[in-house]
Amino acid sequence: MVLYKLLLDRKRIVVSILSVAQFIFAVIAIVITSSSLVRLRQKRLMYFILLSVAVVFHALGYFFVTTAVTLDGALIGWKLMYLGVPLVGPTYYLFSRDYRGLKRHSLPTTFIILFIGLVFSWSVVAYPLTTVYYSGAEFVQLADIGYLVTTPGILYYPCLIYISIFMLLGIYNLLRVFFMERRFKGAALFLTAVLLPFVVQILSLIKVFPQSLHPTSAALVMGMILMFFFLLRHRQDEWQSTGRELVVENMESAFILVDRNRKLLDYNKHAKEFFPSLSEAKIGTPIDQIERIPLEVLEMNDAYHFDFGMGETTLNLSAMSTDIMSSGLHTGTYILISNDTENHKMMQELTRLARCDDLTGLYNRVTFFRDATLSFDLTQRQESKTGCVLMIDIDYFKTVNDTYGHATGDEVLRRIGSIILNRFRRTDVCGRYGGEELCIWMPSTRLHGAIKVAEEIRETIKGYVFNIDDVSFSVTISVGIASVVESMPSDFEDLMKKADIALYEAKRSGRDRVNVYHEDAPETPVA
Ligand code: GH3
Ligand code: MG
Ligand code: MG
Repeated sequence: MVLYKLLLDRKRIVVSILSVAQFIFAVIAIVITSSSLVRLRQKRLMYFILLSVAVVFHALGYFFVTTAVTLDGALIGWKLMYLGVPLVGPTYYLFSRDYRGLKRHSLPTTFIILFIGLVFSWSVVAYPLTTVYYSGAEFVQLADIGYLVTTPGILYYPCLIYISIFMLLGIYNLLRVFFMERRFKGAALFLTAVLLPFVVQILSLIKVFPQSLHPTSAALVMGMILMFFFLLRHRQDEWQSTGRELVVENMESAFILVDRNRKLLDYNKHAKEFFPSLSEAKIGTPIDQIERIPLEVLEMNDAYHFDFGMGETTLNLSAMSTDIMSSGLHTGTYILISNDTENHKMMQELTRLARCDDLTGLYNRVTFFRDATLSFDLTQRQESKTGCVLMIDIDYFKTVNDTYGHATGDEVLRRIGSIILNRFRRTDVCGRYGGEELCIWMPSTRLHGAIKVAEEIRETIKGYVFNIDDVSFSVTISVGIASVVESMPSDFEDLMKKADIALYEAKRSGRDRVNVYHEDAPETPVA
C-alpha cells in the first residue's frame, strides 16, 4: 500500500532513488575505506585511505542534504560533505606522487598542504559563525530534493583554486607515469579515477546539471572504486611501496636511481652515507652534479672498482650499473655500490697465501716459476736480452737442524728470507725453490751486477749472527749464477738448470762462495 502510494508520487520516486543511490555510494565508500585500512596497510597507501575518508564524508553528507527538509538539517549534511572536500585535491596529489615513486614531501610540507585544506573545511563547518566561506545559505527543495543555494564568501574561490591546482598536479603526475614510464595499464585507470570527479565538478560549476543534482559525490565514489580495485588486483603497487622500503632501503648496498637523462630519481640511506650531498640534491638533479658519484660506472658493463676516501680510512668500493628497460625502451638506470673493503683485504690475504711461501715470505715454487718465466720471456723480446738467476743454498743446513733443532732451522730460513726480500728490487722475482734453496731472477741485470749482489748477500748472511733461544751461531751460503748473455739458455728452465750446475760447482769447490756458470762445468746439479 505504502509502496503503491509512493509510486504514484513521481517526485517522491525521484528523491527516493537519488537518496538511496547516494546512501549506497556512502556505504560503498565506507566499506572501501575500512577494507583499505585492513588489507592495504602499506605506508604508501596512506593517502588513498585519507582520500577514501574524504569521499565518505562527502557521500554521507550529500545523502543527508538530499533527504533534509529544513535548512538546519541540510546544513549538517553540507558541512559533513565539506569536511572532506578540500582534502580531496591534495590527497589525490600526494597519492599520485607516491604512485609515481617520487620522494615524499617533508613532514612540514605535507602538514602545510593538508592544513590549508583543513582551514577551508573549518570555514565551512563554522558557518554561520563565520561567513568567510559562505556569506549566505538558503534551503530549497527542488522536486523534493533538498538543496542548499549558497552565496560564496571570500574563501570560496581560493578553496576551489586550491583543490583544482592539486587535482591538476595529480593529473600531471599520472600523465607523466602514463607517457614517460609507460605504465599504461595502471596509470590509465588512475587517470580516469581522478579525471572523473574533476570533470564532473567542472560541469557542476558551469551548471550543466540541474541545480539540485550534485553528481560530484557519485563521481568521487566511482573514482575511488576504480582505484581500489586496481590496487587490489595489481599488487605491484603494493610491491612498489613495501618493496622499496624492504628491499631498497634495507639492502646493504648504496642504491641510486636515475632516469634515462641521468637525473636523480631515488636513493637509499647507504647512498647518503657515501655521498652526503644527495641529501641536499633535489629529485631531478643531474647526477654529475652530485659530488663524488663514480660516473665511470655508467659507461661500463662490468663492476667498477675504486678507492674511496672516507674520513681517515680508504674504502674499496665496487659499483655496478643496470639499465632499466621497459617495452624495449631505456627508461632509467640504477647504480648499486657496495663496500668491498673486507672482501678486498681477504682476497689480498688469500692471494698472498696462495702465492707466497709461509715461512720465508718469498714466492712459492709455482709462483716463482710462473712470474720469473713471464719476466724472462719479456726480456727475450728486448734487444739487450739481459738477466741472471741466482740459486742460493744454505751450507750444511742439515747440521744446523741437527745441532739446534728444526724450529731453529725454520727461524734461520725465515730471517734469510727477509734479508733477501729487503735487498732485492721490486722487479726481481724471489722464490723458495726447494727446502733451503732460494732463487732470484734478476731481469735486465748483467753478470757483473749479479755477482756483486750475490757477494753482498753472501757477506751479509755470513756476518749475521743468529741469536735464537739463547744460542748464537752463523751460517754461510753458496750461490750459483747463470746469466742469459753468457750461458745462452734455451728457456727459463734451462737457465735455472745452469744456475743449479753453478751452485753445485760452488759446493764442490768448498762452499761459502759465489760461482758463475760456464760451458765446461760438470753437469751434475746439487738438487
Ligand atoms: P750442503 O752444504 O751440501 O747444502 O749441505 P746441507 O746440509 O744444507 O744439505 P742439503 O742442502 O742437501 O740439505 C737440506 C736440508 O735442509 C735438509 C732438511 O733437513 C733441511 N730443510 C729443508 N727444508 C727445511 C725447512 O723448511 N725447515 C728446516 N728447518 N729445515 C729444512
Ligand atoms: Mg744446503
Ligand atoms: Mg739443499
